[in-house]
Amino acid sequence: MIKRFLEDTDDTELNKFVKDFPGNESYHQPEAKTRVSRPQVSEPRPQAPELYEDDLEFRTPSWPQPSDSQQYCSASAPLSPSARPRSPWGKLDPYDSSEDDKEYVGFATLPNQVHRKSVKKGFDFTLMVAGESGLGKSTLVNSLFLTDLYRDRKLLSAEERIMQTVEITKHAVDIEEKGVRLRLTIVDTPGFGDAVNNTECWKPVAEYIDQQFEQYFRDESGLNRKNIQDNRVHCCLYFISPFGHGLRPLDVEFMKALHQRVNIVPILAKADTLTPLEVERKKRKIREEIELFGIKVYQFPDCDSDEDEDFKLQDQALKESIPFAVIGSNTVVEARGRRVRGRLYPWGIVEVENPGHCDFVKLRTMLVRTHMQDLKDVTRETHYENYRAQCIQSMTRLVVKERNRKPRAQSKQVSGSP
Ligand code: GDP
Repeated sequence: MIKRFLEDTDDTELNKFVKDFPGNESYHQPEAKTRVSRPQVSEPRPQAPELYEDDLEFRTPSWPQPSDSQQYCSASAPLSPSARPRSPWGKLDPYDSSEDDKEYVGFATLPNQVHRKSVKKGFDFTLMVAGESGLGKSTLVNSLFLTDLYRDRKLLSAEERIMQTVEITKHAVDIEEKGVRLRLTIVDTPGFGDAVNNTECWKPVAEYIDQQFEQYFRDESGLNRKNIQDNRVHCCLYFISPFGHGLRPLDVEFMKALHQRVNIVPILAKADTLTPLEVERKKRKIREEIELFGIKVYQFPDCDSDEDEDFKLQDQALKESIPFAVIGSNTVVEARGRRVRGRLYPWGIVEVENPGHCDFVKLRTMLVRTHMQDLKDVTRETHYENYRAQCIQSMTRLVVKERNRKPRAQSKQVSGSP
């Protein structure tokens, strides 16, 4: 409906209304999918918290982790990835130093207050997994979060699959780690790509994402905004088959249809079925095709120039790993005297968490340890902002239409009256 209005009314009319309408909100053109700028925290960068000591492949950067209650909201300049704010997390008490306390007013503890509040409130994250069935989506999700989210999954027969349309299912789980609670919601898309004719099978997925935006927009505009349930999708892991030659038309269609709505992270599934050389070639081909088709996958924020060299290298390696070549397994096997999660083959063992075998650890580090908050920020500040701007624009058009219709009807009445 909204889209129809967008097409119906011309821009001069709209701009006039926007000028006339008191207190109306500034809006973005739907085409201008820019990120909104976020303020820089100008304090000296504190130490990263030592939350994860084991198997840390990528160092946890001290980027900001603002909670939902600490929303940066500025609709001015476009946001460059380097403009992302830094986190004051980590250093728990800025006054816990040998320096003289009398020199300070005390606002340097604000980050600690925010930290405490957000930990108390807990965090939420919604992850979507998409790609044809059998590519290892459920196995990977279980491996990533060490849960069994698909206990009740019913696998369909070939006959049923042909009849099945794309469904959207949700699994939610509360995870707690070192006192920090995370409500994780996994949105799955069973049936995607399974039909004989897969034309527009991305549509139900796009509609689902829009529905979540719409619901949030309604709740946000309502009277009670205190306990809004945020179901917006923060990230979509899109699984690409390891058996094709790069992207298939369905992959291109899906990513093109969704890239303006959600952060897409491409995944090269079942990497253990490929040799290292094949993985390298496939990754390169997929990256080239993503570029060629103008697909905008999730962009990692830029590293600051004053960042130390190690961190810059890690960041570079992360960016170059796209698409992440992953292996999933929920079985623990014994390898070199250690018990690890892996896949046991007659010729050897592939270890899920061995960086020499696949990018699983990189993906998990990115998703959970380093970029979860950024994925949420980009969802809120870019994808949702654009949706919201379109809504406001179409509502404005509706009012303009209504206003224009009334005087015409009135003048008809006047001229018709004796
Ligand atoms: P989904 O339909 O995409 O959710 O796929 P599943 O997670 O149910 O996996 C389908 C099959 O692929 C199962 O037999 C898994 O054991 C297997 N599988 C999952 N991940 C991998 C992987 O990384 N490599 C290989 N070789 N097989 C996998």
